[in-house]
Amino acid sequence: MSDIVLPDRLRDVAEPVRRIRTPARLDYVFMAGKATSRFLNAVAEKRLVGQRCPVCRKVYVPPRGVCPTDGVPTEEEIELPHVGTVTSFCVVNVQFYGQVMELPYVSALILLDGTDIPLMHLIQEVPADQVHMGMRVEAVWVPDEELGPTLESIKYFRPNGEPDADYETYKDNV
Ligand SMILES: [Zn+2]
Repeated sequence: MSDIVLPDRLRDVAEPVRRIRTPARLDYVFMAGKATSRFLNAVAEKRLVGQRCPVCRKVYVPPRGVCPTDGVPTEEEIELPHVGTVTSFCVVNVQFYGQVMELPYVSALILLDGTDIPLMHLIQEVPADQVHMGMRVEAVWVPDEELGPTLESIKYFRPNGEPDADYETYKDNV
């Protein structure tokens, strides 16, 4: 790398600029689409609704409106329970910009009962080092007046006290 040559009058008073910060910002609007909009509108009513594929019978949540395996529309709606099984998880120990959670916290894949694809959400009300695969958890919702069409309507999931799920029941979703 070649040295930057400063004019004589600045040589003793200024350091050459080698780096600048340029804050960047990107605003965008996410269009949820028909299936996800229906899902989020149900969430605003404190309901979890998946969709079942007419071919493979898998239940997707949040639904995308089509089965990725069979390529057919998934129109049958299934009302889901608010309980599930932790199939995989990550203990977050690193602070990052914009992060509001107290460390450490746990982000997990949760397979809601009766579904075939796990949903990502937080696990709370249990020490991070006690979270494990197969743990049975339940959704904790925000107060009714704060419900909205967002998964933030679920504050987090917490252990529901049931015995761990048998590995066979979630092994395809690890
Ligand atoms: Zn299918």
